[in-house]
Amino acid sequence: MQKLEMIYEGKAKKVYRTDSPDYYWVEYKDDATAFNGLKKGTIDNKGVVNNKLSAVFFKLLEEKGIATHFVKLINDREMVVKAVEIIKVEVVVRNIVAGSLAKRVGLPEGTLLPQTVLEYYYKDDALGDPLINTSHIAALNLATPEQMAVIKETSLKVNDILREFLAPANIDLIDFKLEFGLHKGEVILADEISPDTCRFWDKTTGEKLDKDRFRRDMGGVEDAYQEVLRRLTGE
Ligand code: UDP
Repeated sequence: MQKLEMIYEGKAKKVYRTDSPDYYWVEYKDDATAFNGLKKGTIDNKGVVNNKLSAVFFKLLEEKGIATHFVKLINDREMVVKAVEIIKVEVVVRNIVAGSLAKRVGLPEGTLLPQTVLEYYYKDDALGDPLINTSHIAALNLATPEQMAVIKETSLKVNDILREFLAPANIDLIDFKLEFGLHKGEVILADEISPDTCRFWDKTTGEKLDKDRFRRDMGGVEDAYQEVLRRLTGE
């Protein structure tokens, strides 16, 4: 397969066309942003870690019967994925209170939720990705109710699979964000799964092993990303 011209550059990845209309070629960057692009920086080697970790997670999910866009790794920073049209709904799954939920409902970070919380955000940078509900999604025609049923069920399954996978690495999955896309009419999991899009806390110490170290200027950002890769792959 051949990498052709770039068709999209996002905050963390570049997407290229390939010689097949069914596949895209994705390159993971070291660029990091937070707070809707207000904070900018780089995290050395982040592109490599996120590319490899996303591949690990997508392969695991495929083995467990979840349809994802992942096709194959090309090299340290690049993978081939199925071409999708991204659904403009970001799904956040939460097991423990953190980040924006702590602010929204006034519970301290670290509070265990008695049941999993699902949230939807409108994927629109100009609007700052506002929280929306299923009636907004239907009224704005972002996805059909049938597609949302798949998205909801898949998101909860992904949560179960990832939690079980991370537990032996002594990592708690606090929350994470998923994006879905349409490939030949089918809803499949897309984008990435990485310390950029998940909150990972060490089970024993509660140490943060994710992008909050960058958002909150905590230091040790590169080491935290590398540590997750090491625990899950030995690398
Ligand atoms: N998240 C993300 N992209 C976003 C917003 C959130 O990947 O644009 C992830 C974030 O890393 C965390 C989860 O979604 O794992 C919940 O984030 P939250 O709503 O608490 O927002 P934040 O505190 O990150 O602004």
